[in-house]
Amino acid sequence: MIEQAANNTTDEVVAELKRRSAFVMVSHVKPDGDTLGAGLALGLALKRVGKRVHYFQQDPVPRNLRFLPETEFVARELPADLPADALWVFGDMSSTSRAGEYLPALERANILDIDHHLGNDHFGAFNYVIPTECSTGTVVMHLLRGLDVAVDRDIATLILTTIMTDTGGFMHSNTTPEVLDLSAELMRVGADKEQITEEIFANKRPAALALLAKALDTMRFEHDGRYCYSAVTEAMLAQTGADGEDTEEIVNHLRSMDGVEVSALFKAFDDEIRVSLRSRGRVNVQAAAARLGGGGHFRASGLTFHGTLDEAFAGVDAALVAEGL
Ligand code: 5GP
Ligand code: MN
Repeated sequence: MIEQAANNTTDEVVAELKRRSAFVMVSHVKPDGDTLGAGLALGLALKRVGKRVHYFQQDPVPRNLRFLPETEFVARELPADLPADALWVFGDMSSTSRAGEYLPALERANILDIDHHLGNDHFGAFNYVIPTECSTGTVVMHLLRGLDVAVDRDIATLILTTIMTDTGGFMHSNTTPEVLDLSAELMRVGADKEQITEEIFANKRPAALALLAKALDTMRFEHDGRYCYSAVTEAMLAQTGADGEDTEEIVNHLRSMDGVEVSALFKAFDDEIRVSLRSRGRVNVQAAAARLGGGGHFRASGLTFHGTLDEAFAGVDAALVAEGL
């Protein structure tokens, strides 16, 4: 366990960004619009003030995020001449392990941790973690103001993408008046909300809906209908021609039914069992996931389960019951 370091102030983080000359923006495995959008927005802003910026991401850019500016520079490899004092900026993850196994060994002195998750490990020499923010992108907004970089159309598109990803298109409870104010400001400088909606939420492949149909067909209810769960297996992917990216929305559909307080999707493929949890707001699924080595937010969390699928069903059920389901 890493010793908890204090959070830094906006001024301290901005001073460090100004002091360094090279940066690596790091996003988490199975990237979403928040980890990627936040890193690209800050990276673009740093480029605008003359800094050298690279983007490290273990996995490829998901199909529905390829419209974002800067994604052509995202890579798993880094240049050999990267300065030793480059600052590695981790966005939207509670610990460095979420960046994947291709991450090189780093000195803590060269790590900046920017996040909005409860239970972030404060693993950097610099930590800027604001759990009340709806997205890591809105955390980054404070730094952009401090850096005095003008928010142009590209940066606005990236930040609005982080907001729309993590608020579920302005539907989740983290959609505060402040979030709507900021979103309006971003639209005024050119972010195209319509395009972001289409690209992120209305760009599904037929295979994704075929997979959704199979997952809905095999869903199960427990605890008097308060818990709904389903699984996606390797066989289901093969039958539909879908892949991991096509699983994203399924867990939200399971939670969209009247009476369901918690939903879970078990993704049993690629030699692991990944579990996504969603809550309507009474049961803390971040705490439930943390019992099994995962994490996230009160209403949306995830974990990797080590064991069989039946053990995963039982283990997650027990963790949810322990959190009051
Ligand atoms: P998703 O179900 O969309 O993969 O993840 C939902 C939320 O839980 C996200 O905020 C994500 O960062 C977090 N999360 C998912 N998997 C893990 C995990 O294995 N560990 C931790 N700490 N957080 C996770
Ligand atoms: Mn996020």
